[in-house]
Amino acid sequence: MDKILLIKYGEIILKGLNRPIFEEKLINNLRITAGDRVLKIWKAQAIIYVQPKPGVDEDELALLLSKVFGVVSVAVAHVVAKEMGQIVQIAAKLMSATTAKTFKVEAKRSDKRFALKSPEICAVAGENILNACPHLTVDVINPEIVVTIEIRDSAAYIYTAKITGVGGMPIGTNGKALLLLSGGIDSPVAGYMIAKRGVQLCAVHFFSYPYTSERAREKVLDLAQKLTGYCGSITVYIVPFTDALLEIRQKCPDQHLTIIMRRLMMYVANKIAEKVKATALITGESIGQVASQTLEALTVTDDAAEYPVFRPLIGLDKEEIVQIARKIGTFETSILPYEDCCTVFTPKHPSTKPQLDKIIQSEQKLDVDTIISNALDGVEEIVLKR
Ligand code: ATP
Ligand code: MG
Repeated sequence: MDKILLIKYGEIILKGLNRPIFEEKLINNLRITAGDRVLKIWKAQAIIYVQPKPGVDEDELALLLSKVFGVVSVAVAHVVAKEMGQIVQIAAKLMSATTAKTFKVEAKRSDKRFALKSPEICAVAGENILNACPHLTVDVINPEIVVTIEIRDSAAYIYTAKITGVGGMPIGTNGKALLLLSGGIDSPVAGYMIAKRGVQLCAVHFFSYPYTSERAREKVLDLAQKLTGYCGSITVYIVPFTDALLEIRQKCPDQHLTIIMRRLMMYVANKIAEKVKATALITGESIGQVASQTLEALTVTDDAAEYPVFRPLIGLDKEEIVQIARKIGTFETSILPYEDCCTVFTPKHPSTKPQLDKIIQSEQKLDVDTIISNALDGVEEIVLKR
């Protein structure tokens, strides 16, 4: 029995004249993700068909593709000739293998030439399943299992389960942004949320060796690698930041250390964004989470950024962020104990209401241009693939 993946997509359908561009991008992203596991991918009647190569586990492939942004659902369907006798036979066979006790049939008829209408398909298939499977009864309100029969132009498709996709828009349909990626819980989630809207990600990590260890660096790369499962290829720029931090610690008032560090991160991020043609920065900040995330501190940080700073977690509580981190699979890596530069260089009493003019005064004690150019000279570039 041939099986095929039926992939449905959501918001793209509302795209009017631009719709084909979005569909092409989605198909291309699915193709890259599936790699050599597929024979053919094509689109018809607002659905994408994926034909796996013989021997490929269709359920594993479905799970993999359900993580591609733009995908609303993936079903592994049996392909059947558009003939009621064969359709009910396969449906009954599928249901005889289930341990469920209640079921219902749903039918969709996008080929309007098919002789039976949807309610009639449901009635005929339901009756046949009941006859073939005495352990089952019909429950249209709360069934344990739903058998879906779709009559399309090409064939009939029958499936009993579909995986919910991640939704969003295909990567590459909404430009590129640079994620400031620490090893914490928040920034990978922030990157995920912006990438979900079709934005291609690249990432920068400020690395303070030896105050933070090689393992902290590996952790950041692991997190970025996890994000590639959704976002596709991500280039990570590792910026040496120790000298910058030491200079701030030496020359600036202790309570300004964190906020000036944030501003220096923005200065360097501006340059990297410019080089890689990213048009926005992304951080994992959320109002009030720490001293550098008060409204005043965020304003002072923003002043150093030359691009819009997207903060998709701004209104979320930590617990809500943790929930997303668990869902996307970054949480376990994020909570590994390796320190980040912010924890090592955190002053005892960071100012929670920094004033821009005072901060700029402190910052003028630094040789900012040299700090930036040294940081950029030492950048290491790592390309991660899905
Ligand atoms: P996270 O959980 O993402 O580490 P956080 O709650 O620890 O966030 P901060 O340490 O104040 O918050 O950092 C705020 C944001 O600044 C992070 O979400 C991230 O976007 C960015 N950031 C912090 N440290 C670094 C770093 N070493 N390299 C790159 N970006 C960083
Ligand atoms: Mg952090």
